[in-house]
Amino acid sequence: METILSINGISKSYGPIQALKNVSFSVPEGCVFGILGPNGSGKTTLLGTILNVLKADAGSYQWFEGMQHDVARRHIGSLLETPNFYHYMSAMDNLEINASIKQRGHDDKLRVLEKVDLLQRKDSKFQTYSLGMKQRLAIGAALLGQPKVLVFDEPTNGLDPAGIAEIREMIRMLNKEGITIIMASHLLDEVEKVCTHVAILKKGDLLLSGPVEEVLQSEDQVEVKAADMPALQNVLNNMPGIIKTNLVNNVLLLSCNETLTTQNINEYCAAKGIILSHLLLRKKSLETKFMELTNN
Ligand code: ATP
Repeated sequence: METILSINGISKSYGPIQALKNVSFSVPEGCVFGILGPNGSGKTTLLGTILNVLKADAGSYQWFEGMQHDVARRHIGSLLETPNFYHYMSAMDNLEINASIKQRGHDDKLRVLEKVDLLQRKDSKFQTYSLGMKQRLAIGAALLGQPKVLVFDEPTNGLDPAGIAEIREMIRMLNKEGITIIMASHLLDEVEKVCTHVAILKKGDLLLSGPVEEVLQSEDQVEVKAADMPALQNVLNNMPGIIKTNLVNNVLLLSCNETLTTQNINEYCAAKGIILSHLLLRKKSLETKFMELTNN
């Protein structure tokens, strides 16, 4: 699989504020890549940098395995903020202006309007559009000229639930057609639903990156107690399927493989001559994990 984008040690400060600190990760072809982090974590700065709108203080990035930046830019459609569409003009005329600015996609307007489901409203004035339709037109503008990659900053921000669902569905559809998508989001739920890969940022630091199912795996924890806590920990440290044991306030916390059940643990301890006085499965939600990651 080709690497669409590789980011190598990017740092960027605004005066005393370090918005990005030595961030590196890569985006494989064909994925929906989420850049996830709370407000102010550096997502927009990162997107601005890879789109050559902002200049990094250090580090580098490569599109399409080393293509020249200005050539690469022709294959990238982006939506960083709502474009300045003219309120009194139709979707067709607004796209025409957009195509002129970008110098691509003049003969592509009907195709993109169809993609974003606005063909029937192509001649309506922009000011008559709902917020969701305006956002769809903005995506349509990003699609002019058939880019290989789309870069979106918080594409569902400000929309109602129906509008959010439409945009998410559209992102999935565009990705199915082969477009790689890179999107910033502060919503864990959105990244989980839409993205195949994720990079988590916190105050400019990259915490984790990789396939969603690996990075955003919820973990269960099991609590156990016995009369002889050191012996219990010793035994469980050697039990297959237990990843980590941690003694906190005289309770032993176990991080386990998904396949391990509380019954397995009970049986294992009994076989080793230890009688448990406490055994509890504590489900840890993704939300909890994300909160822990991003709030210290
Ligand atoms: P949000 O979702 O709120 O836009 P973000 O994750 O996209 O957040 P950035 O907008 O990249 O984060 O901001 C990262 C940090 O850099 C923040 O502390 C922000 O206040 C600061 N920052 C961003 N742009 C500027 C600027 N032009 N001048 C000064 N500080 C800035």
